[in-house]
Amino acid sequence: MPKPVIFTIDDDVSVLNSVERDLRAQYGQDYRILPIDSGKAALDYLKRLQQRNETVALFLVDQRMPEMSGVEFLEEAIRAYPQAKRVLLTAYADTQAAIDSINEVGLDYYLMKPWHPPEERLYPILNELLEDWKIRVRLPYEGIRVAGALWSLSSHQVKDFLTRHQIPYQWLDIEKDSGARQRVEAVSPEKTRLPVVFFPDGKTLIQPDLKELAEKVGLQTRAALPFYDIVVVGSGPAGLASAVYAGSEGYRCLVIERSAPGGQAGSSPKIENYLGFPTGISGDDLTRRAVSQAKRFGVEILSAQEAKQVFVKDAYRIVRLSDETEVSCQALLVATGASFHTLKMPGAAELTGAGIYYGAAYTEAMNYKDKDVFVVGGANSAAQGAIYLSQFARKVRVLIRGHQPTASKYLVDALEQNPKIELLCDTDLVEVNGKNTLEGVTVRNTATDTTQSFDASAMFVFIGVRPQSKLLADLVKRSDKGYIYTGADLIVDKQPPQGWTLERDPFLLETSVPGIFAAGDVRFGTNHRVASAVGEGAIAFALMKEYLKTL
Ligand SMILES: Cc1cc2nc3c(=O)[nH]c(=O)nc-3n(C[C@H](O)[C@H](O)[C@H](O)COP(=O)(O)OP(=O)(O)OC[C@H]3O[C@@H](n4cnc5c(N)ncnc54)[C@H](O)[C@@H]3O)c2cc1C
Repeated sequence: MPKPVIFTIDDDVSVLNSVERDLRAQYGQDYRILPIDSGKAALDYLKRLQQRNETVALFLVDQRMPEMSGVEFLEEAIRAYPQAKRVLLTAYADTQAAIDSINEVGLDYYLMKPWHPPEERLYPILNELLEDWKIRVRLPYEGIRVAGALWSLSSHQVKDFLTRHQIPYQWLDIEKDSGARQRVEAVSPEKTRLPVVFFPDGKTLIQPDLKELAEKVGLQTRAALPFYDIVVVGSGPAGLASAVYAGSEGYRCLVIERSAPGGQAGSSPKIENYLGFPTGISGDDLTRRAVSQAKRFGVEILSAQEAKQVFVKDAYRIVRLSDETEVSCQALLVATGASFHTLKMPGAAELTGAGIYYGAAYTEAMNYKDKDVFVVGGANSAAQGAIYLSQFARKVRVLIRGHQPTASKYLVDALEQNPKIELLCDTDLVEVNGKNTLEGVTVRNTATDTTQSFDASAMFVFIGVRPQSKLLADLVKRSDKGYIYTGADLIVDKQPPQGWTLERDPFLLETSVPGIFAAGDVRFGTNHRVASAVGEGAIAFALMKEYLKTL
């Protein structure tokens, strides 16, 4: 952690040198002494210190400077560093200005020039002020800081991305924290491009896209090779399981992930029905373990890279990525899972990320401490979300279309026993309200045909999922809903799918294109569970191995 700064400002260079010498002798070991010969230059320097998240302990400023008086400087400087102690260096003639500034800028002391001997006239005063500063100061957080607003979708996406990668960060809400607001204004004066991400090395990113952010935090976004034995699209449980087996058996394997590893399972606060974890395991813990296991076996995992399209050229399966680069492989696994349906009602799209969240209870729960929130949906994911949110929120109302929740029994029991959770069954969402952020919702009880409005600070939506199979839309056979057909589901009247050229039938998890496999929630007929996805990922690897032997 860098030393706190003592700033000394004087336009008279001989005085400045003399103050600097005295300060360095007494405080140089514990503080960084920064002498500057003009108020304007000092203000510029302060901005840099802010970006690097350094602390200022004390300003020792000459009152009489040509461009800007000491008091004028302090007025500006304390907005950035309100906790710093303020001392004015004055000549006798400036005493009145110093006295006036006691209230104006909360001056802690004014020192008459000359201050010699410092042991008597300088150090005792500064010692006392610095001791007081040390007791009161909140030392800055040293890691990544994300300054944004709750109404900003990009702020939510950046936080979610960092959370899902288990990268620690500090969230600064510019609506509540004036220091954070100023830091943002210093680099993004119009404040419309949020969030601003401050890094410990002093660099900032303004409303970064996820790839830019991924690169800055040191994640891999580009494939090291042009060609792999096996490429896996999607790093949920199915993709990661397959990659672990592929890597462990020495295959060159690349995983492509458009966001962060873990998939839907990664957003689960607690998975309680996965074999071997009797007290449950959080999705991020499971993901962290799986990612390190895969990397240990030499698997490359790209983050923030979407696979946009897949095509076939001779024996190669080629994936085009969102940055228009391509990677090719011999066997391809599509493990792109599913994502939640979004709300279609007016206003919902505008409030996404500004109070309405899709499955993001984990990232945002802390922001709704002691607030009333809603959960939409009655299946396992919604139930888990509600239980997790109840640790923070004052009240969690769960909107369920049907007569009762469809979640597993252990979750329904937990919902019913939780005093903070209210289940609103037979209930439809009718309206969402709010200008910049969600403020309220209106619901209709379909059994009694009555409507009711509630205040709501946030709504977490977990309704139905749809498969993410667009990247193969024109290539493989899919169901009406977009689930990918594999194996026996492709055989109709004992005939393989149209265009199938091999003598054998498709393998169990092989799609209608030889060498392209599908596993997990994107596959037709799967049962939407972590264990099933992991199992299918493992089987898919075994089948890809079989396939590679035939080439
Ligand atoms: C909140 C929540 C809680 C749950 N709790 C449980 C539980 O307790 N027990 C249980 O058994 N199941 C649970 N489930 C269900 C379980 O998580 C899923 O069945 C499982 O994650 C499916 O795994 P998957 O690998 O097939 O797909 P997913 O987990 O959906 O992963 C797919 C991955 O592919 C990525 N992707 C998609 N398209 C592309 C593309 N074009 N390019 C690159 N990457 C792409 C996605 O970003 C995602 O990371 C829960 C689900 C949710 C949402």
